[in-house]
Amino acid sequence: MKNVLLIASEAVPFIKTGGLADVAGSLPKYFDKTKFDVRVMIPKYTCIPWEYREKMVYKTHFYIDLAWRTQYVGVFELEWNGVTFYFIDNEFYFGGNKPYSWIHEDIEKFAFFSKAALSALPVLGFRPDIIHCNDWQTGLIPVYLKERFSQGEFYQGIKSIMTIHNLKFQGIWDLKKVKDITGLPDEYFTSDKLEAYDDANYLKGGIVYADRVTTVSETYAEEIKTPFYGENLDGLMRARSNVLSGIVNGIDTDLLDPETDTHIPYHFSVDDLSGKAKDKAALQERLGLPVREDVPVIGMVSRLTDQKGFDLVVNELHNILQHDVQIVLLGTGYSDYENSFSWFAHAYPEKMSANITFNLELAQQIYAGCDIFLMPSAFEPCGLSQMMSMRYGTLPVVSEVGGLRDTVEPYNPVTGSGTGFSFGNFSGYWMVQTLEKALDVYENHAEAWKQLQHNAMTRDFSWDTASLAYVDLYKQLV
Ligand code: ADP
Repeated sequence: MKNVLLIASEAVPFIKTGGLADVAGSLPKYFDKTKFDVRVMIPKYTCIPWEYREKMVYKTHFYIDLAWRTQYVGVFELEWNGVTFYFIDNEFYFGGNKPYSWIHEDIEKFAFFSKAALSALPVLGFRPDIIHCNDWQTGLIPVYLKERFSQGEFYQGIKSIMTIHNLKFQGIWDLKKVKDITGLPDEYFTSDKLEAYDDANYLKGGIVYADRVTTVSETYAEEIKTPFYGENLDGLMRARSNVLSGIVNGIDTDLLDPETDTHIPYHFSVDDLSGKAKDKAALQERLGLPVREDVPVIGMVSRLTDQKGFDLVVNELHNILQHDVQIVLLGTGYSDYENSFSWFAHAYPEKMSANITFNLELAQQIYAGCDIFLMPSAFEPCGLSQMMSMRYGTLPVVSEVGGLRDTVEPYNPVTGSGTGFSFGNFSGYWMVQTLEKALDVYENHAEAWKQLQHNAMTRDFSWDTASLAYVDLYKQLV
């Protein structure tokens, strides 16, 4: 039996702002429990809904030093779907109504979390063979592990993995301040360690000190070795290429199942799509759009940022809205995008619905009730939304980058194969061309559309398969 501790800043169902939470909350369920004891550790944010917090069981508390402060660390535990979750408690850092705040606060918050997480292990009596870190918030863990903890007998031989869910976010802050906060000695702040371009960089520390580095798709693992996608760390990624690999995410197919999903009004399956038509009508009705079966509904569920290609969408939206289509958007993010979409919804009330909010239930209703899912990302480490939409028979139109390239097979009109539509050249022109191709198949080739839906809904996006690559990785390490 091998012990693994997966540490992250968010995990479903407790707290979620993006795909990281889906991965941290669902992957651990899928390991063979006779071979791996995989547990998860996240902060005990006060914004975790009370229905979960009230069930958490107090385990222990102690104090650690951080900068000039001595800080309380509480540890709570909750078993959820057969997985043990630990929660690090400290309301000074994890209070407030959202998990992240300003970067300078987060820099100290996650230094605390990293040190507290490692310090808690002997107290909990859980010695992981592998600590699996995720994104910059946990980047200091491999560093601390090497620098101070590995001298203790308990920690000797513990391996670490750093998984990059998005290289754009690195946890960069003033070097002097980070030295002060972390208490790490000067020699850790050189350009081959934590320093990058005169600042301190948490993710870089994790990448340098982890035993293995992974990212969430094979294509992205290659892309980040190039200056275009490398976010200034492409040199480091090339230097670490001998320990770097890409493992495509899965999705929680138990929860995300059109036959049982409790968030959608009508259920359906690949053999009987009649429920999907009803979900479409229900979505149109809920959002105040004309209830019409024949009109193609294009959905988007996303953070509204440049990464997701929204400048292309906003630039082309007038153009797209000249077609007989309906567009449903759910997302929050940059205010420019929020305002633009709200404006279009106002200008085209019969065709466009902009929902500037975070709503998990509406997200599922969009995956289920739309015909097409638009996701023209400028870069995409993996992307989960396109897999979710395919699982619900909603065909994605995507750019061929990162995980989108690895998970969406473009339609081949000769063989009828494919699970969606994609374009290689990142431009508004090609996005519209590809969307029009999808609309043409939808409107004029019903049999081909059905076949594509069948292909998409039966493709294996489950963690049952995706987790096997992590099993291999864990086995190689211990
Ligand atoms: P990223 O992690 O880059 O934001 P992913 O596609 O990997 O993108 O994952 C996004 C996840 O967040 C999906 O589960 C998606 O459904 C969800 N999501 C994004 N925006 C919203 C929103 N406004 N309301 C509900 N869920 C959302």
